[in-house]
Amino acid sequence: MTTPQITIPDALLPHDGRFGSGPSKVRPTSVEALAARATDYLGTSHRQLPVRMMVAEMRNGIAELLRAPDGYEIICGNGGSTGFWDCAVFGLIDQRSHHLSFGEFGSKFAKAVAAAPHLAEPSVAESEPGTHPPLEPVAYVDTICFPHNETSTGVMVDPVRVGTADQLMLVDATSGAGGLMFEPEATDVYYFAPQKALASDGGLWIAMVSPAAVERIEQIAASGRYIPPSLDLKLALDNSRQDQTYNTPALSTIFLTAQTVGWFNENGGLSWAAGRSSASAEILYGWAEQSPVASAFVADPQQRSTVVATIDFDPSIDADTLVEVLRSNGILDTSGYRKLGRNQLRIGMFPAIDPDDVKALTECIDYCVERMQ
Ligand SMILES: *Cc1c(COP(=O)(O)O)cnc(C)c1O
Repeated sequence: MTTPQITIPDALLPHDGRFGSGPSKVRPTSVEALAARATDYLGTSHRQLPVRMMVAEMRNGIAELLRAPDGYEIICGNGGSTGFWDCAVFGLIDQRSHHLSFGEFGSKFAKAVAAAPHLAEPSVAESEPGTHPPLEPVAYVDTICFPHNETSTGVMVDPVRVGTADQLMLVDATSGAGGLMFEPEATDVYYFAPQKALASDGGLWIAMVSPAAVERIEQIAASGRYIPPSLDLKLALDNSRQDQTYNTPALSTIFLTAQTVGWFNENGGLSWAAGRSSASAEILYGWAEQSPVASAFVADPQQRSTVVATIDFDPSIDADTLVEVLRSNGILDTSGYRKLGRNQLRIGMFPAIDPDDVKALTECIDYCVERMQ
């Protein structure tokens, strides 16, 4: 099928056409700030003060943003969230874990755990895409794992502590951290990578860890279990406490993360940032409700993500064609998650994305849809 030639009038277009669910829009202001540090930060040693001060700024800023409770620490390392799953397989899960699996990311973590020869077969609760299984107590597990926001389907779960004190709550907040409100005390490990709601680049993992999680990391490290050094959370903890990483990190990723976090904190912190996403979500789901051809994929409004929207289209509109038409007009990365195989658009509504641009996007979609029928 050839993509129809549709030119959206300039007046309707958003100021910034990036609506990807990750990597997502990086603010041009942050990139300009990075350029201003072209000669005294980029290309300098990560063991020297300028970079360590930037790591400190990022760690302190994240602690403030996430409202880290007393004793909670911010640690980081290389490998993104996928790398962190492997770190958790080696250094956080003692014997057996429980997983909520309701999309690509939750299921990938459960698979990584199931493949580990030193761990017992995990307990896995599954549900249909577009829903999530109940978050409820489970016996005979030492770790409970679930995504805050399942980026592949646009379903969110509010983290609540359902386990006993010795069961760690591991929350994959890759697309949630900075864009969703939550109760920090309900989590032991709230981990993420900064290329989604934190409007930075990829490659890094960051985690807010509770005293109980630190204790678990230290216990397992002392137990004699084989742990590859690049996945060793004890090494990550020791290095992070000195504002370093075990091996060389991407300095631009750290800088851009610190920029976004600083911007959030200066404007009112997590409630402000999450409020921007909520405002976008209200616009987008409100529009879908009114639209004759679009509807929210996630049926339960409580589970409907306010950071990543999945919007189904009537069969009269081919979503893949619509995605291409939008792309030819500079509106990028609106395609649904491939493996889900639905006639769907998936739209990032992270805090850095302007709610006014989300409004403009809905008008652009209407403009294209009218000309595609
Ligand atoms: C994107 C994503 C991941 C993977 O992150 P990487 O940094 O690419 O490894 C994991 N979990 C969730 C919920 C995600 O959205």
